[in-house]
Amino acid sequence: MTIKTDILIIGGGSIGLNCAYALLQSGRSVTLLDAAEIGAGSSSGNAGHIVPSHIIPLAAPGVIPAALKWLLDPANSPFGLKISADPAYLRWLMQFAAACTEENVRRAIPAFKALGLLSAGKFSEIIAAENFDCAYAPTGLLFLYQTEAAFAGGKHEAEILQQNGLPAEILNREAVHAREPLARASVLGGVHFTGDASLHPAEFLRLLRQRVLALGADLRPNTPVTGFETQNGKITRVHTPAEEFEAALVILAAGAWSPAVARGLGLTLPIQPARGYSLTAKAPSVLPRQALLLGERKVAITPLRGASPLKNRLRFTGRLEIGKMSTTPNPRWLAAIERAAREYLQLDEKLEIEETWAGLRPTTPDGLPIIGFAPRRANLILATGHAMLGLSLGPGTGAVVAALANGRAPAFDLRPFAAQRF
Ligand SMILES: Cc1cc2nc3c(=O)[nH]c(=O)nc-3n(C[C@H](O)[C@H](O)[C@H](O)COP(=O)(O)OP(=O)(O)OC[C@H]3O[C@@H](n4cnc5c(N)ncnc54)[C@H](O)[C@@H]3O)c2cc1C
Repeated sequence: MTIKTDILIIGGGSIGLNCAYALLQSGRSVTLLDAAEIGAGSSSGNAGHIVPSHIIPLAAPGVIPAALKWLLDPANSPFGLKISADPAYLRWLMQFAAACTEENVRRAIPAFKALGLLSAGKFSEIIAAENFDCAYAPTGLLFLYQTEAAFAGGKHEAEILQQNGLPAEILNREAVHAREPLARASVLGGVHFTGDASLHPAEFLRLLRQRVLALGADLRPNTPVTGFETQNGKITRVHTPAEEFEAALVILAAGAWSPAVARGLGLTLPIQPARGYSLTAKAPSVLPRQALLLGERKVAITPLRGASPLKNRLRFTGRLEIGKMSTTPNPRWLAAIERAAREYLQLDEKLEIEETWAGLRPTTPDGLPIIGFAPRRANLILATGHAMLGLSLGPGTGAVVAALANGRAPAFDLRPFAAQRF
């Protein structure tokens, strides 16, 4: 059977659902296909940090030496690499190494700043307008440091933010302990990115999916896209196992699976999965006051204070394993994440872990997402490659995609995100 639709979105994670919401709000009709459950995959178990402070891309000077040093610490490394001779993977690694430059950082900052602020503003608008109860806490993100060297790095980052007009407070020992009484005495300083926020990602996406459905979207879980037909540079049909779809416009938002889907169109997207893990525990006797990031260990911590059934949970996330296309959590690294949290925080002796999880960050070699019309396909918009920021940048990406779909100029210069840069 062939189903005709206005806009067809492939992928129902943070990016696909936010695109659906923004497009519906702009008066368009939407069909969304997901190979699995909608809103349940890589976007659901993440740290839930909304971080307009994150303006420095993953590919930056100093990252390769730091990564090599971490690889020599097999017990605690926040970073891992797949060993593989796959040419696409090796090419990606070489592109990543080449992108670790000041020039990449300079190019990324204004684009990340514009998209991050747009997105953070949209989060608070959507949550207020739709009355979402999703543990939203606009209390900032506090980095904790245990060594002078890492604290110096944090201060440097804070200064870059301040120069770019974004809020960042540098906290000495006394100030950081006043801000986070759970911090252990070994914490010697901190940086508080006070414009950041956090929420329960799965809950936000569940509520967004309900809203999108109420606005009239045709949502189809368990409907993988298996291929395409094209004519004169346009997608004319999208195949799934049971049905075919004809759409005026197609949006590819399949996260780490985007390269596999794009291959069916003859497009090469340089995206590698970067696996990470989370553990969610029943709240200990005292919760941290705000979202935290453990500077040396790169572990994120999120207090989830929403209404029942989410009330009183504490989530720990970490690890970035490039090239691992698997969502099986590794108990060894889950234990390392919990160990790191205990190094920085006074937690109850025993935590009741309710959920362990692994997800895939869709990661480009320069650390910037791919957002915009695709090369050589007039009716295809790409919205993917958001790496460690796919939750945070979701509503902003939705707004930008809706602008493009409606022939309007987006609110800022999208060229740094163009697929044509590869
Ligand atoms: C440990 C960890 C912590 C993180 N913390 C944060 C954080 O604090 N803040 C933040 O902003 N980001 C965070 N991230 C990153 C964030 O989770 C990702 O960037 C985000 O999930 C990407 O969203 P997406 O919609 O692009 O992809 P996904 O959520 O992966 O969605 C893609 C969807 O496409 C579907 N799909 C795949 N193939 C097909 C097909 N053939 N046809 C149809 N559908 C298909 C999949 O089933 C999936 O549902 C974290 C990630 C990890 C792993």
